[in-house]
Amino acid sequence: MVRVVETLRNVYQIDLEPGGFSNLVSVYAINTGKGIIVFEGGAAVSGNDLKNTLRGLPGTVTHAFITHVHIDHYGGTGALLELNPNIEVYVHPRGSKVLPNPDIVWAPAREALGWLGEIYGKPFEIPSRNARETKDGDRITIGDVTVEIVHTPGHASHHQSFIVEPWKILIVGDAAGIYVKDLDYIIPTTMEPLRFDMYVDSIKKLIAKNPSYIAYTHHLLVPNAVDLLNRHLRQLDVWAKATEEVVRERLGVKELEGILVERDQDLKRVYDRLRSMKAHYHLFSMAVDGLYKYFLDLETKRK
Ligand SMILES: [Zn+2]
Repeated sequence: MVRVVETLRNVYQIDLEPGGFSNLVSVYAINTGKGIIVFEGGAAVSGNDLKNTLRGLPGTVTHAFITHVHIDHYGGTGALLELNPNIEVYVHPRGSKVLPNPDIVWAPAREALGWLGEIYGKPFEIPSRNARETKDGDRITIGDVTVEIVHTPGHASHHQSFIVEPWKILIVGDAAGIYVKDLDYIIPTTMEPLRFDMYVDSIKKLIAKNPSYIAYTHHLLVPNAVDLLNRHLRQLDVWAKATEEVVRERLGVKELEGILVERDQDLKRVYDRLRSMKAHYHLFSMAVDGLYKYFLDLETKRK
């Protein structure tokens, strides 16, 4: 099942429901007046669904912008070559070598994501000739739409975000959490291998761009982008302080989870419901684990 919603005029949110999980992975398609451009590519398991959905929109798919080369963000993009063999795929220069050779990310992704990685599947190959490496600050105009490239490392070294004008939509990828609308809760995207200092700096960089809307890959487009980014920063402060303490006191990651539930008031409010959402709770656990390992590494290096 795929659910398509025209959330803003000419802006389509496509919930791909990989493995039957709804509200988990979305792709955004925009009608530029000179063809369709897509942001993110979903997981490989949804590649055919994405291709068939885009076939139903007015115009050819000309460009794909991917935030980073994690399997749930770009795995299905290669399926779009069947719609347009000349599609231009915009990728961070640190991720471009993965496009023709998805094995680079497939094995570590299965390891990190476990059963969810098996559902997402191995990414489609994308020939190098389709890849377009970006530079921070690039602006690309296609028809009525301009896309600004903002490099946002932290969650991954090869992460970039996009500001899409004229709406000022921030396509945020995994740079600033997973927004669970039903719970009004943000799950940090602090999975391994994390650079927490860069993750925080990237969020500040995005706030400075003053976006109007924020389109989360996980999983929807909402207004009040700056409020949500600021809220996430405050939450990260709570999470980081708790994690540093737990590491200093030589407690484990399970204890950390308990302490976070006590101190993150939003988490306290939604924790039981979050635990019943299998895929989302899996990602939450990975986020807690990633932050724990980041601060444990720092502590070890200090000695
Ligand atoms: Zn990611």
